[in-house]
Amino acid sequence: MSKRIYLDHAATTYTNKEVLNEMLPYFTEYFGNPSSVHQFGREVKKSIDVARDRVAKAIGALPEEIYFTAGGSEADNLAIKGVAYANKSKGNHIITTKIEHPAVLETCEQLEKEGFEVTFLDVDQYGVVSPEAVRNAIKDNTILISVMYANNEIGTIQPISEIAQIANEKKIYFHTDAVQAIGSIRINVKEQNIDMLSMASHKFYGPKGVGALYVRKGVKLISIIHGGSQERKRRAGTENVPGIIGIGKAIELAYQKFDENNARITMLRDKLIKGIMEKVPYTRLNGHPENRLPNNTNFCFEYIEGESLLLNLDMKGIAGSSGSACSSGSLEPSHVLLAIGLPHEIAHGSLRLSLGEVNTEEDIEYVLQVLPEIVDRLRQMSPLYEKVKGGK
Ligand SMILES: *Cc1c(COP(=O)(O)O)cnc(C)c1O
Repeated sequence: MSKRIYLDHAATTYTNKEVLNEMLPYFTEYFGNPSSVHQFGREVKKSIDVARDRVAKAIGALPEEIYFTAGGSEADNLAIKGVAYANKSKGNHIITTKIEHPAVLETCEQLEKEGFEVTFLDVDQYGVVSPEAVRNAIKDNTILISVMYANNEIGTIQPISEIAQIANEKKIYFHTDAVQAIGSIRINVKEQNIDMLSMASHKFYGPKGVGALYVRKGVKLISIIHGGSQERKRRAGTENVPGIIGIGKAIELAYQKFDENNARITMLRDKLIKGIMEKVPYTRLNGHPENRLPNNTNFCFEYIEGESLLLNLDMKGIAGSSGSACSSGSLEPSHVLLAIGLPHEIAHGSLRLSLGEVNTEEDIEYVLQVLPEIVDRLRQMSPLYEKVKGGK
């Protein structure tokens, strides 16, 4: 069989078998509507409560502070629009950053069109948001600050506790998109003063199409999907029961295996980074050298295009990404790479390899054998590279 190495866990993961097994009976045996009063409904409602407890426990929240959604994007939309619309009378200013996921960026851009004012903060060369910059951006009419926990493209982890502390002092709501952080970082929303937090099950070995938003008790937030009174009237629609069972199991497993998994994945990541930096000239590592997700690597290879590199890696069985699954297919370079100050032509040559539970040392060795050859071959076809070499 030909090799298949998946290094795109930041885009999505497979669903863990143990998680799937726990979900399966909820398609057939336990199919009742949790809002129904009969026993078919009641037994399902109980299982949803178990899932809610598991999600809450993993981040130090109360079960009644967890709202299930149809994924990370919906959780981000609910947090941002929900707070913006509910707190209009207090103010219309929102602070976020230039490196957020499109689910946050475009939601904020939509709110701008509706009359809200949004400050998109710059980041430094490693993609770090400075707490001081957050503090300086606060105005009398600021109602919400939204800063992602860890970046999905370059893996940089943000000083979330410091930023949340500032928001807390100023009595401004603080939301974090923690979609990439769950399972890779230990989080306690109470100790860290986080008012709202988004997660998506399919980024931590759960099923796709289910996520959750934590909303601290007392936060003023209105629903954005209207209809029934599910999720304490904050998210209408019959619950995705198997999905909810899945996210509950997946988050529990992620934190049970936390130390072991993250130590191993960090070791593989460092081996991959070291190998690539040593073997491939004219390469830069994007993101923070230390303060990054255990599973994230992101490189720019000068004089080549990310897309051709991806295709060539794919032919060798290696699945990577040019940065974000959401922006590939477009010719625009990544907004994150531009925000850390890379010029367009360099931002085009980026590669994200994101590791997961199944990856092995052999996988890394194979990448380190194949990738330098591909980069070299692509560079031989670049007229610019010829000039550089000639000039040496
Ligand atoms: C994947 C991702 C999302 C979107 O989650 P979906 O479940 O795909 O809607 C949002 N934010 C970040 C940081 C992500 O990585």
